Amino acid sequence: MTAEKTRLAAARTGGDIRMEVLRRAEAYRADIARFLRDMVAIPSPSGQEGRVVDRILDEMRRVGFDEVYRDEVGNAVGRIGTGPATILYDGHIDTVGLGDPTAWTHDPYAGKVEDGRIYGLGTVDEKAAMAAMVHGGRIIKELGLDRDYTLYVVGTVQEEDGDGLAAGLFVEHLKAKTGRRPDLAVLGEPTDLAVYRGHRGRCEFKVVVKGRACHGSAPERGDNAVYKMGRVLEGIQRLAPRLKDDPFLGRGTITVTKIESKSGSLNVVPDECTIVVDRRMTWGETPQSCLEELRGIVAELGEPDAPGKGPGVGGTGAEVALLDYDAVSYTGCPMRMAKEYPTWVTPEDSPAVTAGLRAAEDLFGVRPPLGKWAFSTDGVSLAGGYGIPTIGYAPGHEVLAHTVGEWVAEDQLVKAAAFYAWFPAVAAAELKKGKD
Ligand SMILES: [Zn+2]
Repeated sequence: MTAEKTRLAAARTGGDIRMEVLRRAEAYRADIARFLRDMVAIPSPSGQEGRVVDRILDEMRRVGFDEVYRDEVGNAVGRIGTGPATILYDGHIDTVGLGDPTAWTHDPYAGKVEDGRIYGLGTVDEKAAMAAMVHGGRIIKELGLDRDYTLYVVGTVQEEDGDGLAAGLFVEHLKAKTGRRPDLAVLGEPTDLAVYRGHRGRCEFKVVVKGRACHGSAPERGDNAVYKMGRVLEGIQRLAPRLKDDPFLGRGTITVTKIESKSGSLNVVPDECTIVVDRRMTWGETPQSCLEELRGIVAELGEPDAPGKGPGVGGTGAEVALLDYDAVSYTGCPMRMAKEYPTWVTPEDSPAVTAGLRAAEDLFGVRPPLGKWAFSTDGVSLAGGYGIPTIGYAPGHEVLAHTVGEWVAEDQLVKAAAFYAWFPAVAAAELKKGKD
């Protein structure tokens, strides 16, 4: 027996396999960082993730995953083990756009390392989690920790503007391929190594108001759609402070994110005005209730004036509708859904939360804080749609997501890799307890 094998056997029988997990995560610090920097160097805006998925599949193969492939929508899929519990790690690997390139403090694609931090677009959101998940898988394989579970590490596509769609399609794919359904899921959205267990849902609405065009020199002959929309905007602003509150998730919010009008020329009174509304839903709010609320604002303004009556103070006749997400994945798969992303909260006593807290405490000696995200994640379909107990645990601060100063601490990458290696064993034991 080599010295290495003897030490490993001693660690196992001595029950201190956790020390070995930590030791290996630390030993792979440079590998994890290199893999992250490689992913950062490959631009992967939503819908163009092909090359970064290639890189992830290579790394999964190299570190010894049992099965590695690309699914129909182009998600990177790596499987470890064949045990009864099914655990899903979801790390989306698309990023938002670059924005103003000159605003970046560091080259967004260089993955510059400075004072123990790795800088770049998509570090925190959330290629860092993918780097740590894959090397967590490596540790699992090396230590033979995968006897009681099947772990799927999935690098999902198109999360940034189609939250949950590709993750949900993976759940469907898994069911069709293996008959399995994840017993629980871990999201790689940044939590600063806390255990997160939910967030507000969201939906996007379009409100369209029609008017009547006329010459700009005699506006009284027409009916200005922009003025009519102004009254809807006032109604939305009045509604905002009255929205429902929740002790864990906080208050629902509503805001207008776009406005445009149509007119034949700049000297024609506009006959149509459209706004887009971003609505965040707290506990107890649904896309349907939000739609009715917006229609209520329109109804409060009264019936529209009869045609030909000229500009009046009657209602606006505004039409309210949910927007659709309509795109194509880089593999050519149509990606369509209504822009409704349900609110979700995993209860504190769920096996997912218990296992998350215990796995972190086992490794680092302290119980991590519990929390929630301000923004939306793939949890909208995994937890909100499919009811899979879901938590988040990942490196990096969520406030850095979608900013021009994204960075992640190398120390957190290492800790996250240890967590991802240890968590499935703890989770499988928790799930078994629930079944016994
Ligand atoms: Zn993200």
